Amino acid sequence: MPPPVAARWRLVASYVVPIDPPGAVWAPGVVDVAGDRIAYAGPSEGAPAFDGPVRQLPGIVLPGMVNSHGHSPMTLLRGVGDGLRLERWLAEAIWPREARLTPDDVYWGMTLGAAELLRNGVTSTCETYFHDRALLDAAVDAGLRCVVTPGILDLPARGARWRWQAMLEAALGLVEEQQGRAGLVRVGLGPHAPYSLPDEALAAVGRAACEGDLLLSIHLAETRREVEALRAERGCSPVAHLAGLGVLDAPVLAAHGVWLEEAELTTLAERGVAVAHCPQSNAKLGSGCAPLAALLRAGVTVGLGTDGPASNDDLDLFEELRLAGLLARALAEDPSVVEAPALLSLATLGGARALRLPAGRLAEGQLADLVHLEAEDPRLVPILRPEEVPARLVWSAASHLVRDVWVGGRQVVRDGEVLGVDLGRARREVQARAERLRG
Ligand SMILES: [Zn+2]
Repeated sequence: MPPPVAARWRLVASYVVPIDPPGAVWAPGVVDVAGDRIAYAGPSEGAPAFDGPVRQLPGIVLPGMVNSHGHSPMTLLRGVGDGLRLERWLAEAIWPREARLTPDDVYWGMTLGAAELLRNGVTSTCETYFHDRALLDAAVDAGLRCVVTPGILDLPARGARWRWQAMLEAALGLVEEQQGRAGLVRVGLGPHAPYSLPDEALAAVGRAACEGDLLLSIHLAETRREVEALRAERGCSPVAHLAGLGVLDAPVLAAHGVWLEEAELTTLAERGVAVAHCPQSNAKLGSGCAPLAALLRAGVTVGLGTDGPASNDDLDLFEELRLAGLLARALAEDPSVVEAPALLSLATLGGARALRLPAGRLAEGQLADLVHLEAEDPRLVPILRPEEVPARLVWSAASHLVRDVWVGGRQVVRDGEVLGVDLGRARREVQARAERLRG
């Protein structure tokens, strides 16, 4: 476990980017932390008097980034099946290996993934995978905030444990057992996708999510083929299909949303469905590119997701936010279609809203999830005016600039070192286990 939380302390940085209001930069700025929350955030000038410990930070402070869709234990399967389309990639490369996974595999896969996320300035992640207790043990040991939505599939050939009813029951058991653990854990439900679950399963999971007020994350409209197959079979879009089954009555986070039509965007906005935009995974699997600008215009809450490291192949939201911006501008042939502050907001506040966490912006009462970047790296020089900082973070920064990270006021990365993880052991474990899983 990382070191304990100091009761109350102040951080003063050359540049503080609060995310809200968009484009604001306090130079210098102050963040006061009390326990796991922010007690004050604002420009240094006018900050309240303070006589506790003060940490002076040269560089940039922003809220911790939020990964709104991940399968981080897939560090164990990093890069497998390269060159296969989603359907074959799942059936031939991923699912056979996942059938061999043990809880210890997931623990070490998640431990390495958590170290990678934290090192890259990601303080919260939404995870859908298997062996969720082991996944949460790893996240908590590393000090990472984790919203887990246990994967629900229906694979009768694998035995009774893999029927959707048993998987839903196990997920609800996990809610009882792990909700709120260590101040870091939230548990929801993760039905895999409309194409991998029967209607009655989707409806039942939707009802359970409504009853328990649980976040329901689901893969939605990821590939053109999947959407065309559903239309041919049901005569409706994936969004209409889920709405018809009552799934959208729950708090839904839809991953991907690549192949959505205008009317579906309106439905998502009206029903309060958030979208996890995963541009790098979608591009690498040749699935397409989600209509980011149209989603934002429609008023949909959008976060960014890494997806799993088998299809990305890293856990780096600096890459995702830049690619999201580049693709949106290239597709629109318009450089003003998504501005830098809005892109930075996707990686922070957008993700936090998608996960329903009081985080992603620096303001009183928000979770004290903070990232400190050095600003002396050549790629950030020069900064002529503080207002340039958000654009510099989007178009020039990279995860290697992350020096320090706090989650809930607790320091989890110090000067680039992840404090709660034995990285040498995690590397060795994942290497050895990946060799076994290859079969
Ligand atoms: Zn996914």
